[in-house]
Amino acid sequence: MDLKSHIRGIPDFPKPGILFYDISPLLAHPQAWRHAVETMAASVKEWQPDILVGIESRGFLAAAPLAYVLDCGFVMCRKRGKLPGETIGHLYELEYGSDAIEIQADAIKPGQRVVVVDDLLATGGTMAAAIQLLRRVGADVRGAACFIELTFLGGRDKIDAPVTSLMQYD
Ligand code: 5GP
Repeated sequence: MDLKSHIRGIPDFPKPGILFYDISPLLAHPQAWRHAVETMAASVKEWQPDILVGIESRGFLAAAPLAYVLDCGFVMCRKRGKLPGETIGHLYELEYGSDAIEIQADAIKPGQRVVVVDDLLATGGTMAAAIQLLRRVGADVRGAACFIELTFLGGRDKIDAPVTSLMQYD
């Protein structure tokens, strides 16, 4: 199945000069979405995860059905201030300024096998930060999975774990 035909490029979003890869048509097409989730599940299964961690917000859309298919737990990695109860955060640098992500303090037990999931890998900064945070809490990070990888940005080189992607743009 041609999954790329369900990805829409939107020029000048969120700012001029950026081509945004919109996954909405993929999500809206049940056969294509099922195919994407099942193909990704077959790759992620190899890493034998206990938990899938989804990165806010489109990472949730990817990680939740994968966790369901693979019979794994699902944990949210969110932007600062969104999760209730005790949290553990991680500050990371962006092109301009910095940002912070968090997980709930009791979400991962030391040694649990974790795969981190996002919709898209661009510069790799977000995924690398999530992996650092997860390692700080003792997770055994087995890999990183995304539906789209913008290979021309070289994000994979920043990820200190195996990476799998369904669609590549170069
Ligand atoms: P990175 O940290 O790798 O530069 O950016 C990846 C993060 O930004 C992901 O969480 C992803 O959801 C979001 N992102 C950046 N560019 C795009 C894009 O073109 N399309 C989509 N769907 N998400 C993007």
